[in-house]
Amino acid sequence: MHHYHRLREILGAHPVGAPESEEFLEILKILFRPEEVELAVLLDFKLRKAGEVAQKAGISPEDALKRLEAMADRGALLAKKVDGEMAYALLPNYPGLFEYPFMKGMDGPAQERLARLWHAYYMKAMAAELASASPPWNRVLPAEGALPQEYEILPYEVASRMVAGTGTVALANCPCRISSGNCDKPLDVCLSFDGAARFLSDRGMARIISLEEALAVLKRAEEAGLVHTGSNNAERLIFLCNCCSCCCHFLRLITDHGYLGAVAKSSYRAGINEPECTGCGVCAEERCPVGAVTVEEGTARLNAERCIGCGLCVSTCPTGAMSLVKRDDYRRPPATPADLVGMIVENKRKKQVTG
Ligand code: SF4
Ligand code: SF4
Repeated sequence: MHHYHRLREILGAHPVGAPESEEFLEILKILFRPEEVELAVLLDFKLRKAGEVAQKAGISPEDALKRLEAMADRGALLAKKVDGEMAYALLPNYPGLFEYPFMKGMDGPAQERLARLWHAYYMKAMAAELASASPPWNRVLPAEGALPQEYEILPYEVASRMVAGTGTVALANCPCRISSGNCDKPLDVCLSFDGAARFLSDRGMARIISLEEALAVLKRAEEAGLVHTGSNNAERLIFLCNCCSCCCHFLRLITDHGYLGAVAKSSYRAGINEPECTGCGVCAEERCPVGAVTVEEGTARLNAERCIGCGLCVSTCPTGAMSLVKRDDYRRPPATPADLVGMIVENKRKKQVTG
């Protein structure tokens, strides 16, 4: 049992965090068999060659490779060839230990138990941990049909441009909707890029797709009322999710937990041209994922603090009364994923110092 506690400690030291909880220990017991967790605690978040792990563990390279491969196949470890030899690293809780095993698909009862445990862990401890990140881990990219013409549109605001700027694209099923099952929105809309895309496709958790297919996924997601969210950095996305607010572990920080700033808003908010609005309620009842619009006295009203700037209300407004307008309080996201992590770590450290 002490190996599972140790693994929890190592995962908890990652900037994403892994707060202590009985449910998380049970999750680790499903994802790492006893003979595997002994090796997992010898790893960290940098790729380590199998031979090095075998030497540390005092076992044969063949034995180490077999156990490491089993964990990687289950989506519990990252794996990549380095200088012709397989190397492995631990995965943080997000993106990683939560998502990948659901993308893989387990046998029915094991998957159901894992889903129940993740739900309990998320509600009890992990949601607060995710919401504490400053700046937020994830950022909203507006629906492209809603992007206004009158402003200069920056490349990182345009989902299709961000996808086109990546190399390899892979498509997987959405782990949040698989595990929560709170709606029947499309499952096959989860995009990952480059290294993550290759790992996920190598292990049968995703399939490599063309840029054209990826752009069609974005369009399909917008039509289905799903919000584009990606890593909160400007230069190179590592994933792009298409999220509903009833299942997504990030949008639910807003809708279920009331952390209104836990997902970075896009640089826009909804703007309502009141004389054009007929009060039909489509925006409020069918499209807005976070309850930012209400209809009062026959006119749509916006709660600007709640609006995430997803643009889903714009394309379906029958009178064209809805549009996106630039936010005054908008801040450019960090440039790279490493810059984002650095800022989150630094702000966490400052918070700990000031108590
Ligand atoms: S969908 Fe358009 S017309 Fe209908 S309530 Fe919303 S803003 Fe008004
Ligand atoms: S009002 Fe709702 S649907 Fe419209 S942009 Fe804001 S969050 Fe998105």
